[in-house]
Amino acid sequence: MAAVERKILLKHADEDYYSPSIDSYLEQGGYEGLKKALAEKPEDLREAVKDSGLRGRGGAGFSCGIKWSLVDRKSGKPIYLICNCDESEPGTFKDRQLVHKDPHQLIEGMMISAFANDVALAFIYIREEMPLGAKILEKAIEEARAKNLVGENILGSGYSCDIVVHRGAGAYICGEETGLIESMEGKRPYPRIKPPFFPAVLGLYQCPTIVNNVETLCNVVHVVNMGVEEYTKIGRHGNTGTRIWCVSGMVKNPGYYEIEPMTMKEFLYDVCGGPLPGRKFKGCIPGGGSMKILGAEETYTDREGKSFSFDEIIVDYDGIAAAGSMSGSSGMMILDDSTDIVEALANITAFYAHESCGQCTPCREGSLWTKKITARMCTGGARPQDVDLLYDMAGNIGGRTVCPMGYSTTWPVQSYIEKFRDEFDSKAQANECGMKSFDERLIEK
Ligand code: SF4
Repeated sequence: MAAVERKILLKHADEDYYSPSIDSYLEQGGYEGLKKALAEKPEDLREAVKDSGLRGRGGAGFSCGIKWSLVDRKSGKPIYLICNCDESEPGTFKDRQLVHKDPHQLIEGMMISAFANDVALAFIYIREEMPLGAKILEKAIEEARAKNLVGENILGSGYSCDIVVHRGAGAYICGEETGLIESMEGKRPYPRIKPPFFPAVLGLYQCPTIVNNVETLCNVVHVVNMGVEEYTKIGRHGNTGTRIWCVSGMVKNPGYYEIEPMTMKEFLYDVCGGPLPGRKFKGCIPGGGSMKILGAEETYTDREGKSFSFDEIIVDYDGIAAAGSMSGSSGMMILDDSTDIVEALANITAFYAHESCGQCTPCREGSLWTKKITARMCTGGARPQDVDLLYDMAGNIGGRTVCPMGYSTTWPVQSYIEKFRDEFDSKAQANECGMKSFDERLIEK
């Protein structure tokens, strides 16, 4: 039987009967989870989210319940909740869909999470490039306020909490939680050093702060509605719930798909329609531009020494980790045999060089150098030794910086070279010619 989607978060979003209005959401049983949650003890809700196994859908895949358990509740300071809606990882566009098509699901998830964590003021940090999303959310919050689902004494429970939409000014690094917090405080979004600046202890305005991604918070609604036992039946151990994958590149049916864990073959062929006519898959970047590439011809070995093929990789957190990469932001970019791997890397390095915040020298300088070398491999002027130079240079960035973005340069560069070394060597050796610039060639395409 062909593998299919399992729509829970997106159950109504794309249906003709559905709109982003509160009436549409209420007709489908919306805000029942909030009513249920308000009748429970906050600590029981926190325990339920921990037991559900819900992992963060933004990038690192850290347990949502454990993140909540780390909040400093004894400081006497207010606790803030921030919804990270700064979706900016290349290849990722799922949170945008959730915001545009079902904003009340997010608001309900935020209100439940706020109640569970004794939060009286929550924020949605939305990126500048999503102006429509910001308007939709502002309208949805107004609708929820009018029905006493946000604001003072919610549904007569005695609990009060408001939500503020905060628009970012547009920077990749604001997706990193401490960079986001700096930006919210009106500063340049330089990520903070951890320790001591773990948001759970010293976050927004130096108060304990929870930063959760849009999809994560939407999942909280379903944990409460279904109960832990039912929720944990979805997915597999350590990878509970569904996940929305954003698929782009050389595949018949790109788009966003909500699925339970399945094999890469099932996902790419049954769900995404397979390769373009006459083409075959070369590999994929599984979790946004910063992740290590997975080659389609490779044989992988997990920690127990078991070998498996690209087709057999399980599309979830642990399955992709077993293949040596990460599911990251679940932005899956597909490459086929027509893809020039060096040009693909040149694109990636140009992005991260542009988005480095400049705070740390290895990232600021290193990302620029990797961009220059990959660009000259595509445009002319590269030298045969540039491949080793590029590899070595990238290895001196990740792990030597304030935030994890250093790895966004290291991982792509090193994994592309390790897996497609021949293509880099032939480009570097054949580059005495005066070819057109990379940008000129992109425009021609
Ligand atoms: Fe900024 Fe890069 Fe350093 Fe992160 S690693 S703080 S993005 S310079």
